[in-house]
Amino acid sequence: MPLTLNAPISALAGVGSAMATKLAKIGIKTIGQATAYYPFRYDDFSRQAVIAEARLGEVANFVGTVDIIDTRRSPRRKMYLTEAILNDGTGQLRLVWFNQPFLTRNIHEGDRLSVAGKVGQDLLGLVMASPQYEKVSQADESRHTSGLVPIYRTISGVTPKQLRTVIDQALRLAEPVDWLPARIINSRGLLPLADALTDIHRPQDLINIEEARQRLAFDELLLLQLRGQLTRQDWSNRQAAAIEFKEDLTKQVLADWPFQLTDDQRRCAWQILQDIQKEQPMLRLLQGDVGSGKTAVAMLALLNVAAQSYQAALLAPSEVLASQHFQSLVKAIGQRCSIGLLTRTQQYFSQAGQIAGKVTKKQLVDHLATGDCQIVVGTQALLQESVSFNNLALLVVDEQQRFGVEQRQLLLNKKLFHQSDNELVPHFLAMTATPIPRSLALTLYGDLNLSVIKKMPSGRKPVITKAVSNDQRDKMYQFIRQLLDTGQQAFVVCPLIDESDKLAVKAVTVEFERLTAGELAGYQVGLLHGRMSGANKQMVMNDFATGRLQVLVATAVIELGVDIPGATVMVIESAERFGLAQLHQYRGRVGRRGQQAYCFLLSDQDDPLSKRRLEAVVKYNDGQQLAKLDLAWRGPGELYGREQTGFADLHLATIFDQDLIISAKGAAVEILANELWRKNVLTSPAWQTASESLLPQ
Ligand code: ADP
Ligand code: MG
Repeated sequence: MPLTLNAPISALAGVGSAMATKLAKIGIKTIGQATAYYPFRYDDFSRQAVIAEARLGEVANFVGTVDIIDTRRSPRRKMYLTEAILNDGTGQLRLVWFNQPFLTRNIHEGDRLSVAGKVGQDLLGLVMASPQYEKVSQADESRHTSGLVPIYRTISGVTPKQLRTVIDQALRLAEPVDWLPARIINSRGLLPLADALTDIHRPQDLINIEEARQRLAFDELLLLQLRGQLTRQDWSNRQAAAIEFKEDLTKQVLADWPFQLTDDQRRCAWQILQDIQKEQPMLRLLQGDVGSGKTAVAMLALLNVAAQSYQAALLAPSEVLASQHFQSLVKAIGQRCSIGLLTRTQQYFSQAGQIAGKVTKKQLVDHLATGDCQIVVGTQALLQESVSFNNLALLVVDEQQRFGVEQRQLLLNKKLFHQSDNELVPHFLAMTATPIPRSLALTLYGDLNLSVIKKMPSGRKPVITKAVSNDQRDKMYQFIRQLLDTGQQAFVVCPLIDESDKLAVKAVTVEFERLTAGELAGYQVGLLHGRMSGANKQMVMNDFATGRLQVLVATAVIELGVDIPGATVMVIESAERFGLAQLHQYRGRVGRRGQQAYCFLLSDQDDPLSKRRLEAVVKYNDGQQLAKLDLAWRGPGELYGREQTGFADLHLATIFDQDLIISAKGAAVEILANELWRKNVLTSPAWQTASESLLPQ
């Protein structure tokens, strides 16, 4: 019996409960989800090399016989070292593995082994460290180590080899039923789903990869379109509360703010306030580069809703961001309304501009249920079962593309949008900094109305950006210390290496210790990473925001929306690892009060490609341009994943797949107009698992 894509992952041989738990942590619970765990690039081992010709630095695949294998404990570093000698008849190559003592039970002298990895060198000569390996019999194909080898994002506690085996099994045993009408597939020249899945994981060549990507990316975009179109159909039949524009109140509040709205902000605010005056629920996207002042615009809508005794909610993708929004809301409009903060670890409540210390979750939930809390800011913790509103009239979602299927599923379950038929639905405002060209945004988001903030608040100076090599590090820190001495603040960002964040935590902790003992000894330096508790994160952020900390060493957690008024320096370690648009986002974190700010891109890679990428960030100050270059410059066998696009739902599709987007949009219209297709598609597992939710796109 073939398995369906919906079968639990534990149905595969070799996936025990321990493995199932680890896979579940990153969202792989079914066989279908395993097949949707796409590689992000491929290593090309298609050239099987001979050991005699091995060259330092080359990535290669060798097949030979194991002459010797032995594990010992390295006395100084207390770790296991497994060494082997591989002989392919032309020469011998040393292999080394660390902390895998079980290898000697697995591999024996005389075994034939296929290994793949990078040829390095140490005191004893050429060596391959931690190679991927596979035992081969003469007839066996060597799947993990020859040809185009897929590279997956690592999963904590699961070796790449185990992961490949799981996916192989999933591909072999499952029978993916194509959820699309044959006519849609054929008219667009797309691959059948089963072929696309096989090819994306086990391609024969680079052309396979692109064809597979096209099909799977089409599916992602189609799901997005279907969801969008259905939501709109549904919403056009519903009613929201009409929110009157309180002009005097709004003017008074604006007069208290330390700045004047820009023309763009004014226009966007006006569009939103117009929308919510209608009983037709608003569906609007507010787009503006990092720091363009979207939050300020949203606040005016929140304020007007509260002024009419309705409730409003602001949903943020991280605790740090939620709590920052809470604080700025309290400062900006807290005199006029009650505001709550609800995240997994924190609940605060503010009335008349006073934050009443920490409240319990129950207290806050009660305030929401009775309507005593008029505006609530929160993370997805807001979507828990226990939270309900008295009369929610506006939902604002910040960085909305970050919210994936799972969170939207929660929203759906909450029935925020699907209260009983005669109940009101809230107006909906999404905010995003993702730089999508307007014409494309309209295609992607369909009838969702679009407000764009084009110009930055005046007085903001372009950030001076420099690519810095390792030997210029001292000079850079000397410069930074001078700025710190005048009261300015700096971020040091270390890259996120591992999905589970474990390695990143280690890297950032090491860098923190190195800096506090070295270049930044005597300065107030804080550490922030994803594994810290919400309360601890908050404490560190507060200390940084209030200036008690001068430097913040952090992993990628600071990427989104954080606003630190005094920060003027952004140091990015191993900058070559980041997407260009992402680097631009980081850069947008500094100099937010019109100070001259600096961004230093550190990298010890001196290959021309890394250099060219960093130079682009130095040269261009435009997120859209940079995102385009990133895509244009990706290497063969490199997929352009969601890290770069920032869309939680788009793994293989990008916002630059213009033709695919248009094609998917047309397909969505066709499918919804055809009764049979509509029924089949909307009952397919693909639709069910990927997009039951009707939160607007
Ligand atoms: P975004 O969410 O678009 O990245 P924010 O709304 O966080 O940007 O605004 C960035 C910073 O700029 C905030 O500190 C905000 O107070 C400030 N700001 C917003 N609008 C203006 C303006 N018109 N003039 C000056 N500063 C502004
Ligand atoms: Mg923001």
